Amino acid sequence: MKKYFIYFFIFVFICFILPALLTKRKEEPTSTNSENNKMEETNLSSNEQYNYKNYGTINLLHKDTGEVEQVELDTYLCNVVSAEMPADYEIEALKAQAVVARTYTIYKIQNKKHDNADICDDSNCCQAWVSKETRLSRWEESKRESNWTKIEQCVNDTKGEIITYEGKPINAFFHANSGGVTELPVNVWGGSNFPYLQVVETAGEEGYTQYSSEVILKEDELIEKLKIKYSDIQIDFENDDSIKILEYTDSNRVKTVKFGNHEISGVETRTLLGLKSTNFEITKENGIIKFTVKGYGHGVGMSQTGADTMAKEGNNYQEIINHFYIGVEIKDINSI
Ligand SMILES: [Zn+2]
Repeated sequence: MKKYFIYFFIFVFICFILPALLTKRKEEPTSTNSENNKMEETNLSSNEQYNYKNYGTINLLHKDTGEVEQVELDTYLCNVVSAEMPADYEIEALKAQAVVARTYTIYKIQNKKHDNADICDDSNCCQAWVSKETRLSRWEESKRESNWTKIEQCVNDTKGEIITYEGKPINAFFHANSGGVTELPVNVWGGSNFPYLQVVETAGEEGYTQYSSEVILKEDELIEKLKIKYSDIQIDFENDDSIKILEYTDSNRVKTVKFGNHEISGVETRTLLGLKSTNFEITKENGIIKFTVKGYGHGVGMSQTGADTMAKEGNNYQEIINHFYIGVEIKDINSI
């Protein structure tokens, strides 16, 4: 009887226990040893740590207090994505925003604007940031947890990924709504263009509230606003040619407008009159000057509503990024 038991045990050992032990040993290096294998290269699951090496911690300047806070990169990106894009946008659009924001941050670290920090929390200067506490308080209570989890997931699912052109992080500009077509940086800020930032069309942006807006001014209100920069401005409102768009940019935005005795750029007109973009038309009637505006923002790089539209049509975040940035590659930051 004992013999049978021993034979049975040997049988069980050879058939079940031994293969199980060998299999486990084989699996061990890929599941637990993260030091030298290239675990950071692809497909990290959400809870695995990514080693950002030099970029793990960033110095974030809070503009209103002047305080510089050290924050972990992906934690910072959750705050940025939640500040920059509505949480009810499609997952793939939010993932695109996460990769764009990560790229923008790395670019800013490499091309510093602030002496004492890598980046600041002001959207007019660097990139918007909002604390988790403030962000949550602005959402409906029932959506707080699911919204934050969704954003964390988009940051985690794209861990380590940045957009590159010729092996370097790109200057990943983005804006709210392109009005259907994006703009070249030279037409907004002067200087030089970037090969990956071209004029790109996207359908479907008209379905968003940011697409159309108006600014209506009386004659004296217009003069008052223009006087801030042009103190000697004079406009003969009886003359139809006194207010006139003179030139358009490559994306059909306004390049130059004639206001009486001055020719003012579309970008400056936007700032002085508080227009949402430089894609506008002007009409005059009964002492009223109406600016009918398309789109929201400078128009360069990725349009957020365009990204959401593309995601709704079934495009993934890589396709969205490759639509708005020409000839780029999404790469692992540690591979460049
Ligand atoms: Zn800044």
